[in-house]
Amino acid sequence: MKQIYFFSEGNKDMRDLLGGKGANLAEMTRLNLPVPHGFTITTEACHAYQQNSHQLSEALMLEIDHALDRLSASTGKKFNDESNPLLISVRSGAAISMPGMMDTILNIGLNDKSVIALANITGNERFAYDSYRRLLAMFGNVVYGIDEGTFDNVLTETKQAHNYQSDLELTTTDLKNIVTRFKEIYQNNANKVFPQNPKDQLLAAVDSVFASWDNNRARVYRRQNNIPETLGTAVNVQTMVFGNSGEDSGTGVAFTRNPATGEKNLFGEYLLNAQGEDVVSGVRTPAPISTLRESMPEIYNQFAKIAEKLETHYRDMQDLEFTIEHGKLYLLQARAGKRTPAAAVKVAVDLVNEGLIDKETAIKRIKPESISAMLHSEFAHKALERQHILATGLPASPGAASGQVYFTAASAKKAHDEKHQKVVLLRQDTSPEDIEGMVVSEAIVTSRGGMTSHAAVVARGMGSTGVVGAHALQVSYPNKTATVDETVIHEGDWVSVDGTNGNLYLGQLETTDANINDDLATLLEWAKEISHLGVYTNADTPADFQRALEFDADGIGLTRTEHMFFKPERLLQMRRLILAKDAQGRKDPLAKILALQENDFYQIYKLSAGKSVTVRLLDPPLHEFLPHDEKEIKLVAKEINTTVDALKSRIDSLKELNPMLGHRGDRLAVTYPDIYQMQVTAITNAAIRLNQEGYDIKPHIMIPLTNSRSEMKWVRDVVEETIQKILIANDTTLEYQIGNMMEMPRACVTADKIAEVSDFFSFGTNDLTQLTFGYSRDDVGSFMPEYIAQGILPNDPFQTVDTEGVGELMRMAVNRGRGTNAELPIGVCGEVGGDPKSIQFFEKIGISYVSCSPFRIPVARIAAAQAALSNN
Ligand code: PEP
Ligand code: MG
Repeated sequence: MKQIYFFSEGNKDMRDLLGGKGANLAEMTRLNLPVPHGFTITTEACHAYQQNSHQLSEALMLEIDHALDRLSASTGKKFNDESNPLLISVRSGAAISMPGMMDTILNIGLNDKSVIALANITGNERFAYDSYRRLLAMFGNVVYGIDEGTFDNVLTETKQAHNYQSDLELTTTDLKNIVTRFKEIYQNNANKVFPQNPKDQLLAAVDSVFASWDNNRARVYRRQNNIPETLGTAVNVQTMVFGNSGEDSGTGVAFTRNPATGEKNLFGEYLLNAQGEDVVSGVRTPAPISTLRESMPEIYNQFAKIAEKLETHYRDMQDLEFTIEHGKLYLLQARAGKRTPAAAVKVAVDLVNEGLIDKETAIKRIKPESISAMLHSEFAHKALERQHILATGLPASPGAASGQVYFTAASAKKAHDEKHQKVVLLRQDTSPEDIEGMVVSEAIVTSRGGMTSHAAVVARGMGSTGVVGAHALQVSYPNKTATVDETVIHEGDWVSVDGTNGNLYLGQLETTDANINDDLATLLEWAKEISHLGVYTNADTPADFQRALEFDADGIGLTRTEHMFFKPERLLQMRRLILAKDAQGRKDPLAKILALQENDFYQIYKLSAGKSVTVRLLDPPLHEFLPHDEKEIKLVAKEINTTVDALKSRIDSLKELNPMLGHRGDRLAVTYPDIYQMQVTAITNAAIRLNQEGYDIKPHIMIPLTNSRSEMKWVRDVVEETIQKILIANDTTLEYQIGNMMEMPRACVTADKIAEVSDFFSFGTNDLTQLTFGYSRDDVGSFMPEYIAQGILPNDPFQTVDTEGVGELMRMAVNRGRGTNAELPIGVCGEVGGDPKSIQFFEKIGISYVSCSPFRIPVARIAAAQAALSNN
């Protein structure tokens, strides 16, 4: 098995084998771009390492020897060579990019001897020792697990002792002393020495990169991003070029478009006389790339041309790393740039308009879930009116969020997990160790760093609000405070963070909902053209429906009428209705509710503009409407003019041991037909009124909890008789449909028979999942997390459909239902209707539409288009 490929041997399509970074380095080499020579050790070698008890095999070590010889031949450099020493970088690179998750070591090849050689050749002793101290710190951290902070402290102490402002002021003598002290840290903290043999350094580095695939933060990132554990990482070994070899050198990162907004212009930052990690670590604050145009115009122009070429070549926004060594430009990395959801949408739409990709590709590039982050809130203008801006940093990731401040990832996580607090992580800078605290934070704020710092990249990747480089904040970890002038923020204080303009405020500010921008609207239109599945909304009020229509819902898939009864004046009538002993007693409350319901439906239908509206008849567990405690019982007894005892005994008689399996759904229609008759009357009256006003309303009436053909037929007859009576009385006609919810396993099994008396099906997956698993949907919290943690369930089946069990029942119901009526419309209106993974499955089994809450509509629309594309 060939385990090593030179950059000249690979290409961009070899990601699985060479990792993303390796494949792109190979591709850039193929494009004749200035890439330092090197080779990639494959992901297969990583698998072999894992199977070989986490050890490098003899075969691989031999191949590395040959590769080093070949690298020496092509560069003229050799390990330990006094006149031309070979120095290399070792970087990880998985098939899917995992920024900051894996490890990098630069300057391998330096030792006590070659550092002198490097000083002699370059005539720059300071540069040589600066490079050496970096190697010692990175190697110590990655290979021996010595905390980065231990090395950083030595630098900080040295700078403080001499009153230096920046690393650049460190003298050669300082750096030599630092090298000595770093070696002491090796002894004291790990009881190790730094290997002087470059080959040993390289092998240890490769070993550590392979091992780092399994470290905790890499695992967390993979879990977060659904990256398979089995991929493994490749290792890239590349000849060093030095951005820290003087003022004619530098290093930077740049995006071909703005990763926060998607705007088309070169966006990035660089540092002169610095090495790669300085830019991203946030230790020094870099300069914007636009200033390179003035300081090094030729390099800037060359870089801009290469950036354009790579973007056109890859047909996507690129994230580039470059180094300038003595006025010569080198490309060290190209990859698809991480971007905010808003930028992702803008870039996708712009690339279609620029003719670089088609609409289908644009849709495929969007993560449906990320769209919900785009519907980000903003701080209400009113809330901002009298607010004093505490500090301003760089707007790294848009959105508005408030939370209680914590200064370490661990304390943020603890406050979130144990006290259920909304937290804001506020730090000088962040590193991959902070990932778990970042995941739970509403917003991430740093006092240092630029737009490509770790904090900025991670916040954007997660769609969290982020502000970085807010220099006015003086963060003190020991005191757990951040100070701005006179103001001191303590741990636990509330702050509000605006990631769109970089502003920070004290306190908790009110936010407002966001709207769909033109680019997203365009993308959603394309998605609609491509989709087979309709996307409807679950809406119980005209306001919900209005919001859903703004998101271009195809109609209402579910109006839960019981939600209309929770307002106080309605609740009273509802209670009178439930507590009445007979039909006579129900008459008056029913009449009162009828008037209210008619108006409800009138308002909703009026908005519908030709889109279908499905109203579900009452499905309440009756107990939900009854008073529970003494005080309330007393109050209600008075309101409905009865005694407390009489009320208690009636409540008692209605009590059920399993209300979710009890007297609810269409069982209510069988025992209290007058309730459904009232609702159907309200629907019919509202429709007739509107049709007389020139509308074209065709009500869809949905029966919940249906179990069998005979039950559906019984309820359908009640509904139809009611409608017909009204139509005759009004001497008019009305088109309508009467369908049922599929939420009982028995209904799925007998769907062929139910379809004989039902005009449409809609899967209520909440109840169907409850009844298929036998999990009470209201009580799963006590055991579900453990089931998922133990891998007994892959995920929560109430959120993502269980294709194997519940899904199989659905498939059966679709097939049997359509066997009876090939045109039968079939929807899904449970929670999973807005879940992208579930939508993939629904497309496959022939569902006609999904229905979800208004804010999920754009997510579901993109998911539906992607499902159509992957099924085509
Ligand atoms: C369902 O059961 O999936 C459903 C949509 O109905 P409800 O959640 O109101 O029971
Ligand atoms: Mg239900």
